Amino acid sequence: MALHLYNTLSRQVEPFAPLHPPRVTLYTCGPTVWNYAHIGNFRTFLFQDVLRRWLERSGYEVLHIMNLTDVDDRTIKAAAAAGKSLTAHTEPYTQAFFEDRDFLRIIPAHVYPRATGSIPAMIQLVQRLLEKGVAYKGDDGSVYFAIDRFPTYGRLSRLDTREIKVGARVASDEYAKENPSDFALWKKAEPLDEQVGAAWDAPFGRGRPGWHLECSAMSLEELGRRFGVQTLDIHAGGVDLIFPHHEDEIAQSEAVTGQPFARVWLHGAFLNVRGSKMSKRYGNFLTARDLNEAGVDPGAIRLLTFQTHYRKELDYNDDALAGAREMSRRFGVFRDRLRERLGDADDPSFAALAAEHERQFRAALDDDLNAPRAVAAVNDFVTEGNRLMDSGARPGARVRAAWDLMDGVLDACPSVVVVEAELTRWVEERIAARAAARQTRNFKEADRIREELRARGVEIEDTPGGTKWRKV
Ligand SMILES: [Zn+2]
Repeated sequence: MALHLYNTLSRQVEPFAPLHPPRVTLYTCGPTVWNYAHIGNFRTFLFQDVLRRWLERSGYEVLHIMNLTDVDDRTIKAAAAAGKSLTAHTEPYTQAFFEDRDFLRIIPAHVYPRATGSIPAMIQLVQRLLEKGVAYKGDDGSVYFAIDRFPTYGRLSRLDTREIKVGARVASDEYAKENPSDFALWKKAEPLDEQVGAAWDAPFGRGRPGWHLECSAMSLEELGRRFGVQTLDIHAGGVDLIFPHHEDEIAQSEAVTGQPFARVWLHGAFLNVRGSKMSKRYGNFLTARDLNEAGVDPGAIRLLTFQTHYRKELDYNDDALAGAREMSRRFGVFRDRLRERLGDADDPSFAALAAEHERQFRAALDDDLNAPRAVAAVNDFVTEGNRLMDSGARPGARVRAAWDLMDGVLDACPSVVVVEAELTRWVEERIAARAAARQTRNFKEADRIREELRARGVEIEDTPGGTKWRKV
């Protein structure tokens, strides 16, 4: 089975077929850099990370574009509240986003256009929409998109277009589904915009872009400049972006190009923390750096995320995290064992085990990125593989290739643990004491030392080459 994906546009799982294979153009809506991104945002970025890695391992050549929203209602308000210019306020949060991305081992996009760096393309898009007669200048001085002049408006979100009130307008970037209205493409400059440096001259009046316009302009600009096309293969984001953001992106883009804006729309479900929606008020609002500072390993966060299908709501809680941490630890130990024992030839039963689990892993991800099933396949492979190694079987190139594929997509082993010199000396002394106890057949004392080591997070394994240890 080749890759199949659930397309929000058709509400169906479809075989994936890019416009010009092996090329795949992927656009993912990036963070609004008014503050730190929270782990709900990163859940979306992690599902896209699996998508990206799986596309590449399926032989596609991916161009991944992720925008940075550094001008919109929220960034302007936050910059003004901090008494800073827009750029001075957003730049540190942009850098923080990159740090958090790297902490979570998310593969960087190939290009990160900043909204403020793409203003000419946005002005040009508004101009073309005005020329086509689907946009108009309101009496408030802002430019709006007239949704009744774009007959397929509402197709993505399955909006009942009969409810559209002709001429009703909304200026804010975010608004409710119950309120489909003409939306702002370009907002007339207000004193607050001028104060933070978020206003630009345009033929239709000084102002600044609406959030939805930004993604249309940036994606069309990148696609046109690089490949001369106007259709994305995949557009992805969180489920909260379906309306109005993605609906408006489609309207703005297709009204100008006459081409489908994106062939496949993928949306990731929400993340809850300890049973409820994240909120500063409930004290369950978490950023990636909160987790980093609390010493949570990125491997565990990735596994926890992947254990729920991207289209299902995920609950982040301490039990789930502890379970993911233990599984991540097992994966790490298995990886090290494979490395230590790797031989020239595969034990035949080990090679067969690897082939079977690789098949399961591939089938799971091909089935609309079913990461929970992929994780289960790896977990099973680890259990069975350990059993084989316990009985002396050695892994070779076939086993190694299967492991590298799985580990290369999930990337969920613990970070390398740095062991201090003091601990090393103590462990080695304890291992020597245990060996001495075993020589005098004092197994009780040997077991006690093993427990003593375990209490400090050290695991030992007796091998023909001596006792090996690792910090976990
Ligand atoms: Zn967007």
